[in-house]
Amino acid sequence: MDAFFEEGSLVAILTTQPLDRTLDYKAPAGGCFQGAYVEVPLGPRKIMGVVWGPGKGDFDISRVRSVNRVLDVTPMQGELRDFLCRAGDYTLTPMSAMLRLATRAPGLSEAPSLRKIYRLGIGEPDRMTDPRRRVLEVLRDMGGLSLTLGELAEAAGVTSSVIKGLVKQGAVSEEEAPRDTAFARLDPDYGGKALTDDQETAAQVLRAAIASGRYGTTLLKGVTGSGKTEVYLEAVAATLRKGRQALVLLPEIALTAEFLTRVEARFGARPAEWHSGVTMTERRRVWKQVSQGGAQLVVGARSALFLPFRDLGLTIVDEEHDTSYKQEEGVLYNARDMAVLRASIGAGQVVLASATPSLESWANADAGKYRRLSLTSRFGASVMPEMRAIDMRGQDLPSNRWVSPALAAQVRARLEQGEQAMLFINRRGYAPVTICRACGHQVGCPHCDARMVEHRFLQRLVCHQCGETTPKPAACPECHAEDKLAAVGPGVERLAEEAAELFPEARLAVLSSDLFGSARALKDEIEKIARGGADIIIGTQLVAKGHNFPLLTLVGVIDSDLGLQGSDLRAAERTFQLMRQVAGRAGRAEKPGTALMQTYQPEHPVIRAILSGDEENFWKAEAEERRAAGMPPYGRLAAVILSSTEAQEAFDLGNAMARQDAPLRKIGAQIYGPAPAPIARVRGRHRVRLLVKAAKGVALQPALSAWAAQFRLRGELRMAIDIDPQSFF
Ligand code: ADP
Ligand code: ZN
Repeated sequence: MDAFFEEGSLVAILTTQPLDRTLDYKAPAGGCFQGAYVEVPLGPRKIMGVVWGPGKGDFDISRVRSVNRVLDVTPMQGELRDFLCRAGDYTLTPMSAMLRLATRAPGLSEAPSLRKIYRLGIGEPDRMTDPRRRVLEVLRDMGGLSLTLGELAEAAGVTSSVIKGLVKQGAVSEEEAPRDTAFARLDPDYGGKALTDDQETAAQVLRAAIASGRYGTTLLKGVTGSGKTEVYLEAVAATLRKGRQALVLLPEIALTAEFLTRVEARFGARPAEWHSGVTMTERRRVWKQVSQGGAQLVVGARSALFLPFRDLGLTIVDEEHDTSYKQEEGVLYNARDMAVLRASIGAGQVVLASATPSLESWANADAGKYRRLSLTSRFGASVMPEMRAIDMRGQDLPSNRWVSPALAAQVRARLEQGEQAMLFINRRGYAPVTICRACGHQVGCPHCDARMVEHRFLQRLVCHQCGETTPKPAACPECHAEDKLAAVGPGVERLAEEAAELFPEARLAVLSSDLFGSARALKDEIEKIARGGADIIIGTQLVAKGHNFPLLTLVGVIDSDLGLQGSDLRAAERTFQLMRQVAGRAGRAEKPGTALMQTYQPEHPVIRAILSGDEENFWKAEAEERRAAGMPPYGRLAAVILSSTEAQEAFDLGNAMARQDAPLRKIGAQIYGPAPAPIARVRGRHRVRLLVKAAKGVALQPALSAWAAQFRLRGELRMAIDIDPQSFF
């Protein structure tokens, strides 16, 4: 049970202020429970905090102030407090930052009240104008959901008077509604499908795991289209029947819409949604309802993991290998690992679903830490696509052309049969390099150690590191020669240009994250394509993730070798996953699919593993290599990135850290570096990296803390510690 503190007794309050300690206050009139959200005075301000425990009593008691008031929200449970502490310890994040993660909803301190909401009315406007049409379109897109005046005005890009005008005519209805209402109840028996034997066996295991009421993690592996989603929705159903809550994490907002439709078909109502595209009002509602049990299922992005669930019984991490689960800015955490941590504290189950698991999860399953379930065949008539290499050494291609004659012939064959083809290249923009043919200068970002990428659609050069953009210059910035700048190498936009020349009669759709203004626009385009609104889909990484294109029977990978070039620890693993995922897009309906991979190194072991589909052997070989090198998941890594406006300053600190390594030596860890980080300058800051490598069982984080604590960060210096780094930039 949570402790209760009588009025006037000392309590420790955790706030979101960047202090590395709790602050003592006196409990307010009526007392307060541990975990209560409170408002406290701090200097002249009032700030929000959480009653973390008894006061420390190390502050002059005559100066200790009282808590102003206890907020009208459900207190934070011990389970979430523990989780925040342990996640903070693991990622070496101050508790104030952890609390910020857990309170990312606005207006929590406001009292429940009524507000005006707007939804589609039944009347017709007397006269249709563009602004009016936009308002009605936004509301139509929302289905039955309502918005506040401000949200609607912003989404439609109109002034509030336009909306008020529509209200007068009955085309938009205005209602008083209580804030933060509960979500519609989900019915676990509403629309289940009859499962295949394979699927049923897997579902049984998950149902039993949920019935146990204990912690457990399951790796649910199965090729794209094998019914993993159907199976884990059964686990969600079992969780709901037990009166517990479930969370489904998806790697990409663009996947949410399709998924919500599936949930509605399965459970008869829509679940709560949590991601960056959700309005502030809705966020607050989700946050509150999750804490009260008025939201049974949340579908969302990684940060949903920090919501105050009343009783989280099941977390699904779909596409668990996806790199976007690792947050790379601010608090550096991996949502997949944190999901497992939270479940282990709260007696929950975790399902990690993937066609191509991360080596970490594969190894955990191999070691018996995770349960392993496999679905081996695709559902129904569809079979895995046939995969073949196109050896580019034998293809006749003019320079600045990337679609080989062999691939082009296959695409034509599909077009003739009225089927869809996809051309995949994992590069945004038009061309990765802009070079001056007079002096050889490559146009770089002024703030980063990175090349500027031409985006012809935007008619600009863009830095993919910091977002800096400039119009494409007419003259070389270095030698000032006119009209000598040339685009080198392919990007998705350039590939689209080539496809338009090769297949003039075909309808092309280009899917790249930066070509769409909003998640909604992207979703609309994806739906249009799925219905047959395009003949050739040209896309980046974005198309590899989970979208269903039933008419698609051919996938052509333009550059299969691209991911293998880096020195990244995970280059092989990533390429394997990405290629299998992309290939898995083909032939998801009755017609069989083919995946063709253009490569200059068909003999490369990774390419061969991808083609043969011999996954177990690929994982085993990859695991062996990592084990021999003591690399994750068989050893531990932490990256320390030091940055400053002065390169020397960062290097000096790096050298000092490498010398004063006693705390790390105690645990037998090794330090590599300091070295310039692979991208040595980002946003004008010079970056220096140290890598710390340790054996698996040692207490790495306390040693890292003790080590880092020896150094003061003066002036412009910053230090970020990344535990289990995923990207090595
Ligand atoms: P995965 O998540 O493994 O990619 P899905 O669960 O999305 O696979 O299943 C692929 C397709 O097959 C979906 O359209 C799904 O509705 C359908 N499907 C899978 N299993 C069944 C089943 N037992 N009965 C009917 N349809 C199914
Ligand atoms: Zn830049």
